[in-house]
Parts: sequence; C-alpha cells; structure tokens
Amino acid sequence: MPQTKFLLDESDIPKHWYNVVADMPNPPTPPLGPDGKPIGPEALTPIFPMALIEQEVSAERWIPIPEPVREAFRTYRPSPLVRAHRLEAMLGTPAKIYFKYEGVSPAGSHKVNTAIPQAYYNQQAGIKRLATETGAGQWGSSIAMAGQMFGLEVRVYMVRVSYDQKPFRRSMIQTWGGEVFASPSMQTQTGRDVLAKDPNNPGSLGMAISEAVEEAASRADTNYALGSVLNHVLLHQTIIGLEAKKQFEMAGDYPDMVFAPCGGGSNFGGVAFPFFADKAAGKNVRLVAVEPTSCPTLTKGTYAYDFGDTAGFTPMMKMYTLGSNFMPPSIHAGGLRYHGDSPLVSQLYHEGLIEAVAVPQLATFEAGVQFARAEGIIPAPESNHAIRACIDEALRCKATGEKKTLFFNLSGHGHFDMAAYDKYFAGQLDDHSYPEELLRASLAKLPKVG
Ligand SMILES: *Cc1c(COP(=O)(O)O)cnc(C)c1O
Repeated sequence: MPQTKFLLDESDIPKHWYNVVADMPNPPTPPLGPDGKPIGPEALTPIFPMALIEQEVSAERWIPIPEPVREAFRTYRPSPLVRAHRLEAMLGTPAKIYFKYEGVSPAGSHKVNTAIPQAYYNQQAGIKRLATETGAGQWGSSIAMAGQMFGLEVRVYMVRVSYDQKPFRRSMIQTWGGEVFASPSMQTQTGRDVLAKDPNNPGSLGMAISEAVEEAASRADTNYALGSVLNHVLLHQTIIGLEAKKQFEMAGDYPDMVFAPCGGGSNFGGVAFPFFADKAAGKNVRLVAVEPTSCPTLTKGTYAYDFGDTAGFTPMMKMYTLGSNFMPPSIHAGGLRYHGDSPLVSQLYHEGLIEAVAVPQLATFEAGVQFARAEGIIPAPESNHAIRACIDEALRCKATGEKKTLFFNLSGHGHFDMAAYDKYFAGQLDDHSYPEELLRASLAKLPKVG
C-alpha cells in the first residue's frame, strides 16, 4: 500500500521561521503614517512588543523560534501531510493530491501558529492584556488559548454576524478564559459611533480591528494582536510550509502547484513562502491564493495604500484592497471577509510571482462535501476554497492526462461551521458576487497618498 500520512517527529519542529523578504526581487513597501511618510518602529510601540516590531521589518532570511514557543507547539505540531488517495480515486484523476492538515491545533486552525508566539513575546515584554478582533472566531479562540498558556488576559471583538452565527466559537473563547464582545460594541468610541448611526450594523473585520486598536492604544498594560495580514504573522505561519517541505522529501515528491485559501494571506503565505524560496532559486512551482468571488481582494481589488481598519487607526499599507469601507456580503467563510490582503502577498502578486483565483460560495461547499465524503475530515468553509481550486485542477488533469502533484493547505476543520453546511444542504446559500457599485464607491474613498 502506498503511504497516506507523512508524519514528523517533535524534534523536527522547525527551529527557525523563514522570512520571504530575503528572497523577494524588490524590498517590501513601507507602511505610511497619517502624514503620508513611512513610519518608524516607534509608531508601533503603543500596540506591539519590540520583538514583533523587529520581525515586522526584518530582512533576515531565518529568524529563530524561541524554545518556549517550540515547546508550546509540541501540544499539536508537527501537523500531518496527507496524500488524498481516496479523493484522487473519487475524482478519477491521474494527479496526485496532498494536503497539510492544520485542523489538528487545539482551536482547529492554523491561527494558533501565530497566537502562541504573539502571546509569548507580549508576556516577555511585561504586557498583561491583549485586545484583538475576530471574524469567524478562529483567531479569537486561538489567541484566547495562547493567552491562557502564557498568563495573559484576552479581550476579543467579534464581528456581529459571526457572534450570532457561531455561538460555540464564543464559548470556546470563554472556555480558554477570554472575554468576547459583539462588534460594533459599546466598549469603544468607534463602536458607539457606528451603533448610534446604525444599531443593526452586522460589523466587519475592519471595524472590529478599529475597536481593538482603540482599546490597546489607550492602555499601557494592553497590546493589540492581529491574526493575519502583517509580516510577522506570515513569518510565524511559515512553519506550515517548512514542515511540508520535509514531508514531501519523505514522500519523495514535490508539488507542481500549491493552493491555499486567502483572507488576509497568512495561511497562504505560511504554506507558500517556503516553496517561493525554491521558486526564487529557479524551481518550477506555482503558488495559488484562492479567494471568494464575494470578497475578491486580489482578483478585483486595487493595489494601493489603504488602512487596515474602517476608522483609519492603523498605518496605511500598500496592498490589494477593496477599500477599508467595503462591507462584504455575509458569506459563511467569515475568515475570508477582509477588505485588504497581506502587503507581502500583494507585492508578490503584483509582480506576477504568485497567482490568485476567485471561487463562488456554492462551488466551495460542493468541494468541501466531496472532500469530506472521500477523506473523512470536514473542512472549514474557508479551506473549502482551496479544495475547490485544487479539485478543479485535478479535473483538468483528468481531461489532459497530466500527472501533476497538487498540494493544498487544509487550514482548519469545520466542526463549528455545521450551521453553514446545514444551510448548504437546505439550499439556502447564495452565490453572491461582489456588489460592483458598492465596490466602486468604496474604492473612490481610498486615501490619497503621494
Ligand atoms: C482565518 C482563516 C483563514 C483565512 O485567513 P488567512 O490569514 O488568509 O489565512 C483561512 N482558513 C481558516 C480555517 C481560517 O480560520
């Protein structure tokens, strides 16, 4: 029988993170302050510890993973690389399909990979509390768990639609000792202003970020933690791709294409960047970010400086954006409803070094159900986007007879998303495409820079 799972030992947990900046053809664009000038590290010290700020601006190729962080990783890492033999058979494709399964983390997704180091560095800096936002609840639950590991209080602003749709993610945050508020909330001036105008506002990630940043900036004992987008977050996630490369060596194989769902870009960067290092050295590997047609940041957005949040508290970052006031439809892949994207992913996409595709909601659930029936694991709705794109490629291979090696990141399991699956089975899900007019209006409001 051919091998199915490729498993590493705890001692194989990487000792360094990989920094893609070292292999990019051009240096990353700097974040800008309110005056339109590049900000220095001191602009970030009210909300981040220095160790993370240093990682944010580092150009070093390899950054050591502190031993206490590697020790915490041992609770669930290394994660398995799995050959999807049953899915291949179900599709009748000559392609080989592999996936890296990040659903083995306690909170059920890759987000724990950055929650642990972020909690660690904040604790080392003497911080007592973290304020953060969460969309679908994956990040909020991850940081609540990591905060508990390192003795930090965690306060989570959870996008209202998810707070209502995903009560069990709330309960997880509380089980790990975190406090959770529906955003927009009455806790902050940002939230109170929004609610005064629109008491039923469903919230957005951009708005929840504003609330958390406002709280962190106003208290010395409190820092802010972001679950995606920033360079240090993508750096932490490279542990996924670094492990995967060792596992492909065990398998005696190497991917032709790597797929990952893309919201803020962290699991895509995490799985793809270590392969980008090979691509930069001349290897032929295609890296594909998969996003929803309802929030098509890379495929329909504009590459421009924009804020990371709705209120404009964050520095401006050069990224693909739909506009920081873009209100995406309430699709069930809450983790993919962000108006912007990682500046590193955006720059590589702009330079034609990585690819992106957008897929509609119904087709993603169809792919997720097919995957679950073949492989057993029920994927998160976000992960279904990568599965869709990977299955589409496997079916193209079936038509052409190509024996490609396809690899996708299964970023999380869907055990807390079964209400979304229920709606899919009941025929109650729609294929929203992005509302063209809203998008134009939102892009017209981009900050003017330079
Ligand atoms: C948050 C999340 C995503 C999207 O976020 P990225 O930063 O783009 O990785 C994808 N999958 C799962 C399971 C998530 O929780």
